[in-house]
Amino acid sequence: MNIYELVQKAVLTQPIYEPGTPIENVARELGLNPANIIKLASNENAFGPSPKGVAAAREVLEKAHLYPDGGTFVLRNRLAEYHGLSPGQIVVGNGSNEVLELLGHVFLGPGDETVMGRPAFIVYKLITLLFGATPVEIPLRDHRHDLDALRAAIGPRTKMVFLPSPNNPTGTSNSAAEVIEFVRSLPDHLVFVFDEAYAEYLDNPPDLRPLIAEGKKIVCVRTFSKIYGLASLRVGYGYCCEEIAGLLNRVREPFNVNAVAQAAAVAALGDDDFLLKCRQGNRDGLQMLGRGLDRLGIPFVPSEANFLLAQVGDGQRVFAELQRRGIIVRPVGPYALPEYIRISVGTESENSRLLQALEAVLRAPGL
Ligand code: PMP
Repeated sequence: MNIYELVQKAVLTQPIYEPGTPIENVARELGLNPANIIKLASNENAFGPSPKGVAAAREVLEKAHLYPDGGTFVLRNRLAEYHGLSPGQIVVGNGSNEVLELLGHVFLGPGDETVMGRPAFIVYKLITLLFGATPVEIPLRDHRHDLDALRAAIGPRTKMVFLPSPNNPTGTSNSAAEVIEFVRSLPDHLVFVFDEAYAEYLDNPPDLRPLIAEGKKIVCVRTFSKIYGLASLRVGYGYCCEEIAGLLNRVREPFNVNAVAQAAAVAALGDDDFLLKCRQGNRDGLQMLGRGLDRLGIPFVPSEANFLLAQVGDGQRVFAELQRRGIIVRPVGPYALPEYIRISVGTESENSRLLQALEAVLRAPGL
């Protein structure tokens, strides 16, 4: 029998996630020195990892022969304290991506629908499809989620509604008041997933904890991959009511988060100086990129995150040309934005190099 006849139907048609290209791959493919390549492609933290997180991780490495705490006791307790919740309301994942996947395991199956913006973080759609459910995608308005249209798309089969704040790839968010009103208006037969991967960059992120306390079916999802700078360690978490957290914890694998990541996350959570530095550095970086793009006459979407969308014309071509010059950005064709590239905020010198290269690329004939 052909192997494909054995495969679950959803797997056969599953689209494949295209990550930002790692520096080493670009170096190999283009014959460049990796030391001269900069990556502004995956919304990583330009200012590195939390130093406290790295120090804690190093220590734990010495005990690599022992399994981690599958129940992530220390980290869940620290997160509970940090958010003013109970440890039973927290679920920790191998990146927040895993928490999103756990939601699929628990809630989604064939016949179900999920509602999300377009373009929004593509993993919502991938997870929906993987579990045989149907994504209903609602176009953004002026690059922001159109909450009225999202609500209008909800039907009896809707199991989940996704809202990222800020959104990837647009960097935009809805105001706290808008989000809270939206959540209050949702029917009871679905779970609202509030993706806060970049929430630490916002001045006034919506606080949905009172609504969780009221019994609303909300899962907020956060990560240590962005402002905490721990993307490679893979650690994120969700907070919600105890019932939903219990269900999510039931379907995860026993040791889903490694000990190095757990220790690093605990330490990073208390690294306030680093957080402040990153927030300010990001603000400065966004301003620098904005001024530079203005000067080059390149329209861009004002961002509240650590990346922005720039309307460069032929996004794929500009991406390739920048890459030839040792700068990796993200083409956003898969997000149906062929005229744009997504640029993660870099350090001052990285931003400056990016802007210079962009100027050179856009002056080149044929663009
Ligand atoms: N949510 C959003 C909006 C993202 O952009 C990303 C990563 N790019 C994630 C979740 C997943 O991040 P991680 O799995 O590293 O926590």
